[in-house]
Amino acid sequence: MLIADRVLRLSESATIAVGARANALKATGKDVIAFGMGEPDFVTPEPIRRAAIAGLEKGLTHYAPTPGDKASREAIAAKLVRENGIACKPEHISITAGAKHALYMTLQCLLDGGKGQEVILPTPAWLSYKPLIEIAGGTCIEVPSTVASGFKITPAALEAAITPRTVGVIFNSPSNPCGVAYRPDEIEAFAEVLKRHPQVTIIADEIYEKLIYPEIDPSLKARSFGAIPELAERTITINGMSKAYAMTGWRVGYVCAPGENGRFAKELIKLQGQMTNGIATFIMPAIVEALTNGAADVERMRQVFARRAKLMHERLQTIPRFRSAQPTAAFYAFPDIGDCLGRTTPGGKRVETPTQFADALLEEALVAVVPGEDFGACARTHIRFSFACADENIVRGIDRVAQWVAALR
Ligand code: PMP
Repeated sequence: MLIADRVLRLSESATIAVGARANALKATGKDVIAFGMGEPDFVTPEPIRRAAIAGLEKGLTHYAPTPGDKASREAIAAKLVRENGIACKPEHISITAGAKHALYMTLQCLLDGGKGQEVILPTPAWLSYKPLIEIAGGTCIEVPSTVASGFKITPAALEAAITPRTVGVIFNSPSNPCGVAYRPDEIEAFAEVLKRHPQVTIIADEIYEKLIYPEIDPSLKARSFGAIPELAERTITINGMSKAYAMTGWRVGYVCAPGENGRFAKELIKLQGQMTNGIATFIMPAIVEALTNGAADVERMRQVFARRAKLMHERLQTIPRFRSAQPTAAFYAFPDIGDCLGRTTPGGKRVETPTQFADALLEEALVAVVPGEDFGACARTHIRFSFACADENIVRGIDRVAQWVAALR
């Protein structure tokens, strides 16, 4: 059968692949401890679930407008104005089947194939950005960082990466996989650079904005690029319900593009209308419920993640061959395991790469982690742990990893 080159070239998501392998092992009765999937272990708070059930019972079973119904777009616009300081209206917003869908469409609307357009990506970065840039016809320009720099790039490094071909930059703060966030003054320093380059569209993926831990780093506070007046017109804000409201399986994201009176948003909604149309209609009241009354539930889960961020780091510190940064946001730790590579496992396997390390760790110690390669060239000696799992899993799981790593020869 004929298959398009651009699809054949696409890599499979390593996160999804690890999740599938861990689940397959679990299904055979093995006691697998999974640090793979980036999703909260909580179920969606009850009032949000109830709102969707009530929507179904009311008969919200027909098509809704492509970008979402009036009430849910209003609730999202109100949230972005109130919490993020982004001047926007409901018509600048489209509700999408997850933030991933919002990013896919944003990049499809921004980029043309064959024009040599570049999109800058501070790395390590979530492993879907690069494929999403490439399938839209762009080139991904990585700006690397390390554990030593706290996984942060500098404004000078950003500026050095900008060329006449640069059309966009993706910022993901708090970051998957780094588990850190930029401070407001750091965002503003990047903004100073971007003000000098008016051809650059800023794509701000703020899906982890609610998961920052000032109890670990008091300087942390969310700051949106879309709230900076000189950048507001060319900033596209991506967010969604998955992480903050424990709604990964619902598939609800959104995109806000207020620039030029919503011109980008209009084109994106046109694309969406030919692609997926609107999300499930009975889910829309749940979005309104979450954004109107969900704050206490978000805070309850945030506090649990903050505690786990400390616990995770404490446990990882017991592994001298890992170099880790204290996670201060999101729910990921991303240690450098360079010192474990080039060694032989207790089961007799030689591990040269994070993928070989992760495969052997799962097979021999029954612990699932995501190998770092796909998070960027600078992540090729890293693995990712998600700590969106029970405390007991963190303690037992990292103990297992520590024993296995100590036995590497
Ligand atoms: N952006 C980042 C940084 C993510 O980590 C994820 C989920 N792993 C997404 C976007 C996509 O989220 P959604 O479930 O809303 O598609």
